[in-house]
Amino acid sequence: MDIHKQYTPQYSFEFYPPKTPEGAEKLKGVVRQLGGLKPRYFSVTFGAGGSTQSGTMETVFEIQKSGYEACPHLSCIGSTRENIEQLLNTYIDRDIKRIVALRGDMPSGMHEAGAFRHANELVAYIREQTGDHFHIEVAAYPEFHPQATSAQDDLQNFKRKIDAGANSAITQYFFNPDAYYRFVDECEKLDIDVPIVPGIMPITNYKQLARFSDMCGAEIPRWIRKRLEGYGDDLVSIRTFGTDVVSSMCQALLDQGAPGLHLYTMNQAQASLAIWENLSIKT
Ligand code: FAD
Repeated sequence: MDIHKQYTPQYSFEFYPPKTPEGAEKLKGVVRQLGGLKPRYFSVTFGAGGSTQSGTMETVFEIQKSGYEACPHLSCIGSTRENIEQLLNTYIDRDIKRIVALRGDMPSGMHEAGAFRHANELVAYIREQTGDHFHIEVAAYPEFHPQATSAQDDLQNFKRKIDAGANSAITQYFFNPDAYYRFVDECEKLDIDVPIVPGIMPITNYKQLARFSDMCGAEIPRWIRKRLEGYGDDLVSIRTFGTDVVSSMCQALLDQGAPGLHLYTMNQAQASLAIWENLSIKT
């Protein structure tokens, strides 16, 4: 993990666009609370082909209005060059300087891949159209992407995104820190020299976590799964145990030189604040 020693750790929090006016109001409070931790930026997810696309933009501008750096996610599957170009131009006009560039997943019912098949093509397009305007983040998968043909191919495909001009990466969440350390070491061997920030999922709801993890290929280790299953509907115990496990992992990652943390907040402040309190972070 030597490559990471050179980077000052950066902390960020991820939101999804709220679906209701009440959700939007609540998110303002969450931004205020987490803003107190002085993160580098807040990012906002993007849904391919769905109604969350305008929601991403609105949420990003709202965060920016509150005085924080806001970073939209942008996925390219099913999109046209014109659509992507239009979004990029809007973000440039609004002084957005950082973007998470993704392939995304094909929404059910949609069959045409569109102008871009993989995220490396989107990164190349953003660089071609906008030069160095954006700091481009891309996704990384320490436990490998569910559709990867092999671990080696997945690493090579990750490298394509960096070679296309990405500045840094955020990982899919994981609960096996060894998978992350090994991934970073393998990247180093491939001369990938960008920060690879661990994505962190707080544990608050076992059923939801199990469903997400199945979909995105993140493994919940047996000892964690068994404990969480054993708590049943006892949310207090799930959260107490979850905070403890995730905080210990975060501290170990930072001690090993990880270049920051990116927390998947699910639009809630409490779980992230509880983890933060257990860490020796100074921002
Ligand atoms: P890619 O990097 O394109 O990889 C997808 C698959 O294709 C991998 O198996 C890879 O090995 C393979 N591949 C890549 N390039 C090539 C190539 N050139 N030739 C052949 N094979 C290739 N989803 C959303 O819909 N909205 C979001 O806002 C969102 N935010 C995310 C944020 C983070 C930090 C992460 C980790 C994931 C996020 N996702 C989001 C999920 C993501 O869109 C999915 O995991 C998606 O399936 C892959 O996107 P990607 O950008 O990693 O794709």
